[in-house]
Amino acid sequence: GLPEYSPAVVIGTGYGAAVTALRLGEAGIPTVMLEMGQLWDTPTADGSVFSPMLSPDKRSMWLKDRSEMPLASFLWIDINTNIERYAGVLDRVHYGDMSVYLGRGVGGGSLVNGAMAVTPRRSYFEEILPGVDADEMYGTYFPRANTALRVNDIDRGWFEDCDAYQYARLSRKHAEKAGYRTTFVPSVYDFDYMRREEAGEVPRSALDSEVIFGNNHGKRSLDKTYLAAALGTGNVTIKTLQEVRDIRRGADGTYRLTVRELDETGGVVARREMGARHLFLGAGSIGSTELLLRARDTGTLPGLGEEIGQGWGPNGNVMLGRANHAWDLTGTLQSGMPALGIDAWDDPDNPVFAEIAPMPAGVELWVSLYLAITKNPARGRFTYDPASDSARLHWTAEQGQASIDAAKVHFDRINGVNNTVYRHDLFGDTRAFENRFTYHPLGGAVLGEATDLYGRVKGYDNLYVTDGALIPGSTGVNPFVTITALAERNVDRVLAEDIRR
Ligand code: FAD
Repeated sequence: GLPEYSPAVVIGTGYGAAVTALRLGEAGIPTVMLEMGQLWDTPTADGSVFSPMLSPDKRSMWLKDRSEMPLASFLWIDINTNIERYAGVLDRVHYGDMSVYLGRGVGGGSLVNGAMAVTPRRSYFEEILPGVDADEMYGTYFPRANTALRVNDIDRGWFEDCDAYQYARLSRKHAEKAGYRTTFVPSVYDFDYMRREEAGEVPRSALDSEVIFGNNHGKRSLDKTYLAAALGTGNVTIKTLQEVRDIRRGADGTYRLTVRELDETGGVVARREMGARHLFLGAGSIGSTELLLRARDTGTLPGLGEEIGQGWGPNGNVMLGRANHAWDLTGTLQSGMPALGIDAWDDPDNPVFAEIAPMPAGVELWVSLYLAITKNPARGRFTYDPASDSARLHWTAEQGQASIDAAKVHFDRINGVNNTVYRHDLFGDTRAFENRFTYHPLGGAVLGEATDLYGRVKGYDNLYVTDGALIPGSTGVNPFVTITALAERNVDRVLAEDIRR
């Protein structure tokens, strides 16, 4: 069961939450983390912790009756399958024209993501978060985050020789022919382990197509880095299958949480109360924003402002596929972990950073796949819907059109030079560009607007946002390094000024 009170409570176990818990634990503050998902450390009957990627089972998705792959179809054939409803690791939350992929479990998004660990370009970081001292971020907090996340670089010699990145080398060849520059992407997947996978020395994970339903080996997810260190302080406890629903404030100034205890099929087995002096929201852009909106609009924290729910964006995500010539093979062995991106971010009119994504089906498909990150200034917002007691995202397909237009400029050029065409069979209908889902939800409780410049929620003391909700809709690169570094910076200040005082 839950303790009734802890000096500090952290909601969630993703990047922002994990950083915060580690630093609180190191400072000697007893801290409880509440996570709605499960702990992923126990192999089941098949000997593995996570579901196989190409034949998803109940472990793959969070309370769904059917898998929901990002690529909806191949040759217009639906590639999803029925599964048993279970508290699995990947969620897809639907809001009209936008759906959001999320990790559920101890480690949050780190369990399901592509491990790409990219520090944003300094000039763009200064543009999106002008109130944050960039010298301090690039001198102290980005390096600290990269070290603690155990980011590593691919061996260039191996990259050029291996089978697993033939698909990336082919996309690079096509991009370079059109005058584009590619760049290697650092990762939290252990590249040395991957090399041994290809050599047949260790069980395969990235080279067994694993990624969005969890990696059984090789990935340095948060449970292996920040959260392991947090537990190692002896001051941090993680409670799983605990979904925080309501936040209010007691007469003594402490926070009171209503928590649903879930079973493995999502049923509510108990409802508990828990108290905290310092409350840190690390439930992610969607989760933290929803908790604050519900608290404001149901009147449990009526002093929360209009800025809650504003400034949301999908990091300009657009996915697309190109059809290759018969002689241009991507290879049947494709690492699930991307290692290369096409860097057109300096294009003044259409900045795009496009990661070269795998299509690890185990057979040659003649497809080059990309996840493009574009600079789209459109922002969505959340409102609270009392009927469903949940947050609703307001985002339209038209708001995403600028992202498609920007990606199209570059991939039209690449197709033109290489005499190739788009694939029109991958996203459930005949569209070539998919911008109706995102892997990178950002914003909803933006730094300097809903909070002060260190994540302290405006209107209340001892209440903090630590996660991707702080970032105003865009980072220009994959976001978890930015979320981690910002959380490091904010918790430093909060420990010094609010907790140790
Ligand atoms: P999250 O990591 O989302 O963690 C939030 C946690 O809070 C979750 O564990 C959730 O279950 C829990 N939670 C939510 N609500 C509640 C509640 N009410 N009560 C209790 N617990 C709650 N980024 C990159 O930088 N590189 C990549 O390669 C990359 N690839 C991706 C691929 C996929 C398929 C996905 C889905 C994401 C990817 N991302 C990638 C994005 C990255 O994972 C996220 O930006 C990051 O995880 C967000 O961190 P966070 O701290 O904001 O919250």
